[in-house]
Amino acid sequence: MSSDARLSALYQEVILDHYRRPRNKRELEAPTGVCFLKNPVCGDEVDVQLIVRDGVVAEATFGGRGCSISQASASMMTELVKGKTIEDVRAIVDRFAAMLRGDAEAAKDEKLGQARALSGVSRFPARIRCASIAWDALLKAMK
Ligand code: ZN
Repeated sequence: MSSDARLSALYQEVILDHYRRPRNKRELEAPTGVCFLKNPVCGDEVDVQLIVRDGVVAEATFGGRGCSISQASASMMTELVKGKTIEDVRAIVDRFAAMLRGDAEAAKDEKLGQARALSGVSRFPARIRCASIAWDALLKAMK
């Protein structure tokens, strides 16, 4: 197996793991921000809930249903942003968007953690919305 093939197999496993065992998939009792978004093309639904305290994302959870990419992306996103400042979160969202546009440097950026497993989505324009919907909901929920 080439190293590219090995990496994409590993990434596939990470995506499936988040899809099957989603992290932070629950409702918050008193969120400070929520946003529900739908992707009608694929049927994805993502509901992001946040608790922002003193400029820090203290809690980030999600609910919803949809394809493995949309749900895994939401799960990865909540893990990544929890405990970060709003400023850091915005920088991460920008980096993630760049990765989905095919930016090779962003696809290697350690700031993106496991979300780098979604870098291959940039080659499938029809699936980009699946990967980005949770992140758009995150931005809206922070406002
Ligand atoms: Zn989808």
